[in-house]
Amino acid sequence: MENKSNVLLKRYELGRLLGQGTFAKVYYARSLITNQSVAIKVIDKEKIMKVGLVDQIKREISIMTLVKHPNVIQLYEVMATKTKIYFVMEYAKGGELFDKVAKGKLKEEVAWKYFNQLINAVDFCHSRGVYHRDIKPENLLLDENDNLKASDFGLSALAESKHQDGLLHTTCGTPAYVAPEVINRKGYDGAKADIWSCGVVLYVLLDGYLPFHDSNLMELYRKIGRADFKCPSWFPPEVKRLLFRILDPNPSTRASIDKIKESTWYKKGLKSKHINFESENKDASSLDTETSSWHESASVAAEGKQEPIRPPNLNAFDIISLSVGFDLSGLFEEDYRRREARFIFRKPATVIVSKLEEIAKKLRMKVKKRDAGLFRLEGLREGRKGILSIDAEIFEVTPSFHLVEVKLSNGDSMEYQKILKDDIKPALQDIAWVWQDDQQQQPHQQQQHHLQPHEVQHERLPQLQQEEQHKQQQQCQPFASVHLVS
Ligand code: ATP
Ligand code: MG
Repeated sequence: MENKSNVLLKRYELGRLLGQGTFAKVYYARSLITNQSVAIKVIDKEKIMKVGLVDQIKREISIMTLVKHPNVIQLYEVMATKTKIYFVMEYAKGGELFDKVAKGKLKEEVAWKYFNQLINAVDFCHSRGVYHRDIKPENLLLDENDNLKASDFGLSALAESKHQDGLLHTTCGTPAYVAPEVINRKGYDGAKADIWSCGVVLYVLLDGYLPFHDSNLMELYRKIGRADFKCPSWFPPEVKRLLFRILDPNPSTRASIDKIKESTWYKKGLKSKHINFESENKDASSLDTETSSWHESASVAAEGKQEPIRPPNLNAFDIISLSVGFDLSGLFEEDYRRREARFIFRKPATVIVSKLEEIAKKLRMKVKKRDAGLFRLEGLREGRKGILSIDAEIFEVTPSFHLVEVKLSNGDSMEYQKILKDDIKPALQDIAWVWQDDQQQQPHQQQQHHLQPHEVQHERLPQLQQEEQHKQQQQCQPFASVHLVS
């Protein structure tokens, strides 16, 4: 760690190792300022640099700060040193869900509760364009109240790279939770792939065994590819129906989250207060308290459901409240002058595009649409270091809520800095809601503060973050998120 006393960046006292994954080690830690328990995931920069993930991770880190849901592990802050990145997250005291299943299958109502919480987490994240891509037991944790907390949402760049490198076959032991289209390395839809994994999780919760298993890896792939699995005869017919709908090898016909929520079994759970499910759990001692929570869990789920799908101000609020730490420059040491500038808009993409075109016209530059959401402004004449070319990349957070990253792609960085300062920034700031500024908060933030509908949201921000965000401009880099505009 950073020093011998195990105090990290003067702010967290590191405790025991909670676990280790492919790219990271996770430690228990305590904030020296608030005394709050946290989990800190430590990633070697070198490892992710090697797999070329830097840019994607920079964006994806930010996602977790937007994803605030009772069933998703909250990211409090991100810090970096020269060699490491630290993700300070909510600590899940109850450990891994599957340690419970390891003791025996769960009662149907208990399985329903966890599945319901998982579906709520996944639904919420998907609605914000965030896909997990690595839903598996190690990423399903429990808090002290026995509620499920999905971890690693928003780190899908890491998951993705594992899939592409074939790492998932080597380091994760088994691809048992991974959708067939991911294994086949076809282009795949993150939402559909996550849903498949949820199906595998549901099966395991109910049965205590994996639906797909084989000591021979090729045989296992074959089974997954054909969705070759059987449900035990005692699975209720509604569960069987649901599982066959989810574990459909064809992603285009696989059940969507909405269809899952409409399924008889799912709805039965929501209404279940008087339904008496037959218990299948032979070793229920550890779960006795949970049997009565069939109804309770439904209300937890309902709470999750009440979260509006795309509240116009939620993401924006989060960004505003975090925007003093908006600058990611400390995270990856880049050439300051080449660094990208970021702007957040509460405007549709078309408005942003017209603004970019207007800027280009004024600067006498050509606009080239490169790719989905990527615009390149190119100078007409050779400059000192070739033709100046500036990329503006638009990311969708929600259809009316966008992030634009502006950066130099070719030419002289001094010239770029000047244009950025004198032309691009003022023009974009005209219509931007908030933008990255190295040191100070923007006046817009003050003006817009009354737009924040939920002071509650503010209260819900981790105390640690609120207290610390003023001090952390160099180290805390929460940021905004991600979904390419097509
Ligand atoms: P992978 O490398 O595929 O991500 P993984 O999910 O097991 O595998 P990590 O995300 O690095 O790897 O986590 C390692 C372990 O640390 C987890 O399996 C879990 O037991 C523990 N852990 C992770 N996050 C937390 C947390 N917020 N609270 C408590 N324990 C955690
Ligand atoms: Mg994990």
